[in-house]
Amino acid sequence: MSTRKRLSKDKKSSTFYVLDSLDGGPGPYAWGYLKDAPYERIECDKCKSVWARDLPGTVYLELDKPKVGDFLGSSVPNFSATERVVEIFKRHKIMSFETDPVEVVKVKGGDPSKLPKYQHIRVTGSGGHLLPKSGVWLEKECKACGHVSYNLDDLQGFFIDVDQWDGSDMFHVTEAGVTCFVTQRVADIIQEYELTNCKLFNAEHDRGWKMYTPKGSPPPIYYEK
Ligand SMILES: [Zn+2]
Repeated sequence: MSTRKRLSKDKKSSTFYVLDSLDGGPGPYAWGYLKDAPYERIECDKCKSVWARDLPGTVYLELDKPKVGDFLGSSVPNFSATERVVEIFKRHKIMSFETDPVEVVKVKGGDPSKLPKYQHIRVTGSGGHLLPKSGVWLEKECKACGHVSYNLDDLQGFFIDVDQWDGSDMFHVTEAGVTCFVTQRVADIIQEYELTNCKLFNAEHDRGWKMYTPKGSPPPIYYEK
């Protein structure tokens, strides 16, 4: 298949970024507080942990201010984006995500009916496991309930193993939870369309994390709008 060939060629020269929505708080954009979303509550007899597994379905949010951007950060894992963003991604064949409807039930100082429609983005692409030199280790794993936790205190950087990466333009790696990794294609689209309330970074910014690729650390970018 030609698609497969194209992906493996792309892999050799891949550059990855972290895509994040801006944090709430003093910034200009609204932050969404979770009011309701479907989840499965898991109580494990073996490891004694109680945790929640998110399920597909409508996400209900309350916003702390009326100004919104193309992306919407919230206390729900992953992030939300306007239907315009979803449409742009699909038009550019960015397919490695699924969406759930977002319903804003309340806006402090605003009217929910005046807001654009949002979709909650669930990233489906996989980068497999980080390479061991990333400095992340498995803290706890329960075979009975599937609960896994990783320690990132000594993170040296995101050393992505391109052999495990499935070639998706948006993906997660096992050890970094819902941290959203994107390819150069997605980074270019975000900048071309000047999408707002998001940041893209790959080197020495923010949390001091670095991104490594087969060609070494790519030129630093830090995009915030
Ligand atoms: Zn367990």
